[in-house]
Amino acid sequence: MNGEMNLGCYAEGKWVRASDAGVLLRSAVNGEPIAAASSAGIDFGGMVEYARRVGGPKLRAMTFHERAAMLKALAEYLNERKQDFYSLSTQTGATKKDSWIDIDGGISTLFVYSSKGRRELPDDHVLVDGPPEAISRGGTFTGQHVYLPLRGVAVHINAFNFPCWGMLEKIAPTLLAGVPAIVKPATSTAYLAELVFRRMIDSGLLPEGAMQLICGGIGDLFDHLDCQAVIAFTGSKSTADSLRQHRNLVARSVRFSAETDSLNCSILGPDAAPGSPEFDLYCTEIVNEMTSKAGQKCTAIRRIIAPAKWSGALTAELAKRLGAIRIGHPAREDVDMGALVSLDQREEVQGRVRELERESRVVYGRPEDFEVTGADARQGAFFAPVLLHCANPMKARAPHIVEAFGPVATVLPYDLLEDAAALARMGEGSLTASIFTHDDKVARTLVLECGPFHGRIVLINRDCAKESTGHGSPLPHLVHGGPGRAGGGEELGGIRAVKHYMQRTALQGSPETLTAATRRWIRGAKQLDPGAHPFRKTFGELRIGDTIKTGERVVTLEDIGKFADLTGDRFYAHTDPDAAARNPFFKGQVAHGYFIVAAAAGLFVDAPFGPVLANYGLDELRFAKPVNPGDRLRVRLTCKQKTLRAGTGYGEVRWDTEVTNQNGETIAAYDVLTMVATRELLNEIVGVY
Ligand code: NAP
Repeated sequence: MNGEMNLGCYAEGKWVRASDAGVLLRSAVNGEPIAAASSAGIDFGGMVEYARRVGGPKLRAMTFHERAAMLKALAEYLNERKQDFYSLSTQTGATKKDSWIDIDGGISTLFVYSSKGRRELPDDHVLVDGPPEAISRGGTFTGQHVYLPLRGVAVHINAFNFPCWGMLEKIAPTLLAGVPAIVKPATSTAYLAELVFRRMIDSGLLPEGAMQLICGGIGDLFDHLDCQAVIAFTGSKSTADSLRQHRNLVARSVRFSAETDSLNCSILGPDAAPGSPEFDLYCTEIVNEMTSKAGQKCTAIRRIIAPAKWSGALTAELAKRLGAIRIGHPAREDVDMGALVSLDQREEVQGRVRELERESRVVYGRPEDFEVTGADARQGAFFAPVLLHCANPMKARAPHIVEAFGPVATVLPYDLLEDAAALARMGEGSLTASIFTHDDKVARTLVLECGPFHGRIVLINRDCAKESTGHGSPLPHLVHGGPGRAGGGEELGGIRAVKHYMQRTALQGSPETLTAATRRWIRGAKQLDPGAHPFRKTFGELRIGDTIKTGERVVTLEDIGKFADLTGDRFYAHTDPDAAARNPFFKGQVAHGYFIVAAAAGLFVDAPFGPVLANYGLDELRFAKPVNPGDRLRVRLTCKQKTLRAGTGYGEVRWDTEVTNQNGETIAAYDVLTMVATRELLNEIVGVY
């Protein structure tokens, strides 16, 4: 630890001691004291004010790309120090594999957000949302949605089960958005979160005020939040329900996103008979979900929805596999499942199993006499897996509402596929469902019937199982969260999560003003004379709005024929006048769309060696009108957006491109994407450019 028993709070740029001894936190493995946590005496109002006054402005002064680079550096820094985290993680009851999900999973989330930030966000402070909206006839008044970082603070309240991942998966999108955070880890495992947090501060990579930490209660923190704050909560539904009703949060419409417990299900398709690959995969996944992190995963499978005709075979197979699970000291390589987080949690899970037993029968469980390898069963929070069977799941309540946050799951048999879907929905909103079937019709039916009740659905069969990331693993790329019982919130999902910490604002104004506000050229804004062909200008010299208008090219029948010969694209509309005449769109022979794009490049490209290094794609290409032989084409090319790739010597330049015909009608419109060198890089390549 930090050499002392008391965990610190990091407030207003310094580590602060609480004014009382606080709550003693004990090892899940042997009950030994590890640390004490308290936030007594902390000035919570001061923390919020500090975030607003210091952290927010410093983060907002950075561009998305600078923040993304910071996340990468932070991830690398933590990665080099992760052995300390692993050692301490054992005390939470986590095996090495469990800790890998928590620690490496958390660090990799920072890496993913860093990379997505650089690839998918501009090197700017404003995030443009979608294309401009035409809202006036003359085009002088237009609309554009943008996202801007909130001016307040993000309060992250995390659950005990993933002290590292839970903190980092929220921090990554928050910092990328440019918003400072106050992190409050769950007290029982706060010692691990505190260590990781401490290392982040030690790194010196974060701007002052970007992150603060509360180990212990949050006091009057909520009283100080305003409309620019966001609360991202992870924990139980009951805590979320009480917190979101806080008077000040309601009065000021403070955003409150909740990720809570849910009764996640996994469905075995009617085609997946015992002996099939899907049946085997299903059993593997259930045992894995029940035992990894000792079942203390918000996404773990709690409800096993399986065809009634196979529930005997299924329970027998699951019991056999659960019987082979070795429970014990989580640091041992030969142990499959560690301990629950605390003795209190063990009591809590035991109580929940008793509640479940009212409507279900235990078909596998070793409540008292299981063997614990390498640890004292009386001192640690060890708990053996429990498998229940509910004979009448459509009538029962408990399996659909009681979450035993441990290695506990209930088999719910079904006869008809529609009953399987109904049972899934009886969870009233879950984080995750999985479906094991090799029949894609079954998959589609269940997706349509259950989709709106789940934040994520994993479809597993023999074709994808090997590479599948599994039922219970949230990924930074995909949304995590779910409706109803799961809290109704949403996290992760790539850049979507960044937007949770930003305000979407619809701007209305002239194209010129909106271009200035967003640094992204909008049609109708001024077209600047570049002074030279824009392909002769370096990345730094190009200005948003630099435009060239090309000369004309006449499209001939011979061009169309040659293009067909060259490419082999002999679609009748280009090569057969009679057939083309019958086509309701063309009513005659037309040029290939790809010919128009190629011919446009022939008009606007400046050939000799220069700053443009490569054309790496087109975006949003649409062919608006057919081109007939004899039509005359022109191109307008305007520098729309510039995004420097820091440290590379070049940047992406997006060109708004419009091809028109002799009547001034738009034939094709698209964005051309190029990589353009800086002068420094050109000088390196050719001496003095
Ligand atoms: P919890 O008791 O609801 O606690 C969650 C967090 O809320 C902790 O940081 C806790 O702090 C804090 N908290 C509790 N009362 C509070 C109050 N009055 N004011 C401010 N903060 C308060 O849940 P838990 O026992 O830690 O976690 C287990 C539950 O979380 C399970 O039900 C599980 O399903 C759910 N979970 C959901 C997800 C998800 O992503 N959806 C992930 C993990 C866990 P203290 O520890 O200091 O009380």
